[in-house]
Amino acid sequence: MMELTAAVRLVSSWLEAEPAPRRSDDMHRSGVSGRVICLHEGSHAVIAHRFAIEITQASVCFAAGGSGAVDYRPAGDAAFALACANLAGIIAELRVGVSPARQAHLARSTDVAWARANVARAGVPNAAVVTATAAAVLAHWDAIRRCADVLQACGTVTGDTVGRICEAPT
Ligand SMILES: [Zn+2]
Repeated sequence: MMELTAAVRLVSSWLEAEPAPRRSDDMHRSGVSGRVICLHEGSHAVIAHRFAIEITQASVCFAAGGSGAVDYRPAGDAAFALACANLAGIIAELRVGVSPARQAHLARSTDVAWARANVARAGVPNAAVVTATAAAVLAHWDAIRRCADVLQACGTVTGDTVGRICEAPT
């Protein structure tokens, strides 16, 4: 497990780096377990919900090394909230602990690219967004774990179910 302050420093440095000329399209295919994929997508979904961004569904696929996706509804100018949702999967992975190779993969992932664009639109410091994301992931870890449980069992979780998971007593 990585200290969240270390995760904040690490992800802030990724946002400050110049975008890589080539972005990876298979960001989830780097040897992570099915559980980590579920926590990653569950974290995107729960933090989006918590920041009032509607999602239709999140999904995972364990074939070919694993992949996942979250379908967001249009969120208008909610750039700060979107940036937090973009980074939530990465923070969840760092929290449970992933290899340096996986960290290198995450650093040039589409998640970081989208977050970088949304942070620029929001006009706030990188550290403000990453710190807010880390705090939200920590505060809602139980809901993220339960969302990951559904993803692991069913492969998909709807936005409505994410809402129910977030409102359920722990
Ligand atoms: Zn992601």
